[in-house]
Amino acid sequence: MSIVRNSIQRTPIHALGTEAGCSLFVKREDLLPFSFGGNKARKAELFFRELEADGADCVVTYGSSSSNHCRVISNKAASLGMPCWIISPEEASERTNNLALMELFSAKMETVPVSRVHDTIEARLEQLKTEGRRPYFIPGGGHGNLGTQAYVDCYNEIRDYETAEGIHFDYIIHASGTGTTQAGLVCGKLLSGDSREIIGISIARKCPRGRDVVLQSIRDYLGAESQISEAAIQDATNFVDDYTGDGYAVACKEITETINRVMRQYGLPLDATYTGKAFTGMLDYLAKNRIAGKNVLFIHTGGTPLFFDCLK
Ligand SMILES: *Cc1c(COP(=O)(O)O)cnc(C)c1O
Repeated sequence: MSIVRNSIQRTPIHALGTEAGCSLFVKREDLLPFSFGGNKARKAELFFRELEADGADCVVTYGSSSSNHCRVISNKAASLGMPCWIISPEEASERTNNLALMELFSAKMETVPVSRVHDTIEARLEQLKTEGRRPYFIPGGGHGNLGTQAYVDCYNEIRDYETAEGIHFDYIIHASGTGTTQAGLVCGKLLSGDSREIIGISIARKCPRGRDVVLQSIRDYLGAESQISEAAIQDATNFVDDYTGDGYAVACKEITETINRVMRQYGLPLDATYTGKAFTGMLDYLAKNRIAGKNVLFIHTGGTPLFFDCLK
């Protein structure tokens, strides 16, 4: 796939302050102007562009009741007056603000045991086709080359900002989940030949699986013809799994303290599932690796409704 150069800064970057001896900046993906923004909003735009080009008339995706992806997709569908099915694992079906929003968007929720998710998706797609509909399927988390492309675009915005402001970010650090946010940033770096470190702080998956998924997304995007070596891909993929906690949405005391402090000090909302974990992990990572005096860019990947879940 080709790089789409985009010189418009779609989300702001601003200086936050000194943290762990580094100058910390934030790229505010949470301020993308649709449905509380976030990385799923950036990915969703590309999926819906393809959906509309394909002439689809309904959408099917999957994710948990706390999924930012499912909230954004169901909102996009609602804005187009298009029916949206969400297949959801009953193991992660607690009431959250994102679930309340999915209901507001009239998403058709099908909650099944996690072991039945795959078959339920297949059955729903078949059923819709039998009814003469044209469903468009979006993988969970906005996985796939379009999701990766969204974060190649984001990487290029970061480069444009650096050129305009005369600054260089030594580190880009962010929450890594299903992997295409990291894959896109790494592809952006590899394709432009930049030297800097991109650090994905895993919020759930462990090595090697979590890292392997990122690597595969990078290879898929670059394609078989790519001049970029496997060694360069391996070298550029830093996937840190020390901060996953007990699981997906478990806020340990340290994460809660970071969320509260960052909100008080900077007015920046983080959440317990993604950005709070990544921010806490980032500070520990910088300290442990004695990284000081560097320019660090934290990507705020969104999840604002989850911030309010934490306040309860
Ligand atoms: C989904 C999500 C992530 C992880 O992004 P991936 O592309 O799945 O790795 C990080 N932060 C937030 C707020 C998310 O919703």
